[in-house]
Amino acid sequence: MTTPLIITTPHDMQTWATSTRAQGQRIAFVPTMGYLHAGHCRLMEVGRNLGDQLVLSIFVNPTQFGPTEDLSRYPRDWEGDLEKARQCKVDVIFFPSVHDMYPNPARPEPVEGQASAWFDKLTMSGAKDLCTQLCGVSRPGHFRGVATIVTKLFNIIQPHVALFGEKDYQQLQVIRQLVRDLNLPITIQAVPIVRETDGLAMSSRNSYLSATERTQALALYRSVQAAQAEVAAGRTNPQHVIETARQILNTAQIRIDYVSLCDAATLQPLSTWQSPAVLAIAAFVGQTRLIDNVIFP
Ligand code: AMP
Repeated sequence: MTTPLIITTPHDMQTWATSTRAQGQRIAFVPTMGYLHAGHCRLMEVGRNLGDQLVLSIFVNPTQFGPTEDLSRYPRDWEGDLEKARQCKVDVIFFPSVHDMYPNPARPEPVEGQASAWFDKLTMSGAKDLCTQLCGVSRPGHFRGVATIVTKLFNIIQPHVALFGEKDYQQLQVIRQLVRDLNLPITIQAVPIVRETDGLAMSSRNSYLSATERTQALALYRSVQAAQAEVAAGRTNPQHVIETARQILNTAQIRIDYVSLCDAATLQPLSTWQSPAVLAIAAFVGQTRLIDNVIFP
């Protein structure tokens, strides 16, 4: 098994990408925040077959965390990540420092006179509605941070194709919109949710759960399954589908952030059934905020 090349500065990464492209090689790119699990590995496996060179980035991006969120305690495991990257035949790991990615103080808000470029609703008008609903309501600024870091990573790594999980469905739609709006020459490849054997969607944040919370968290999967069963049975009234999912979360005493049935592309809530649609859930199990969804193609 070959060890991935580890690159830590944007300059070195860009130099590598430019020369790799000049040799006519295709670059596939998987952006992550590390603490890798089988969901990330699936993205790498799919990416391995889409490029001559597979690049993984590991960067816990401060600008997508709110001031009261879990940035400082976000789990990290460099040795474990390196081992998984090896197993998934990653060619390059891009592992930059916060200072190298944000030489200007990007969090807290940029100080006047110290220019920092951001995505926001002015530059990303097409994605405005995408960014401000669902997770955008309880995590204001989150997608601005996501769009900013992903654009920076795209410019540094210059991928032909980039892979994103359907687990973060809203993020996937924001990135698709970003790529369309800015005419970025990058193919976005979506990868279905990878679940634990009992159905819990894999997430680095699952490591926060106590044993009791871990059991409680299964209600998220049960609620998307129940919604799926209702739709399969033809009971597609959006209010009914949402209520079915909510009841299961309530019974499990899980605090709901949102349960929404929306258009799969625009994420606008549906008042009457249409497909493709997505049922998206965010809920707190103890202090841990988890998300899940099911797509109705
Ligand atoms: P993260 O490290 O949580 O930022 O995730 C990095 C990428 O992995 C994102 O595109 C996620 O959507 C994707 N991902 C995370 N968990 C899963 C999962 N359980 N199944 C599929 N993709 C996932």
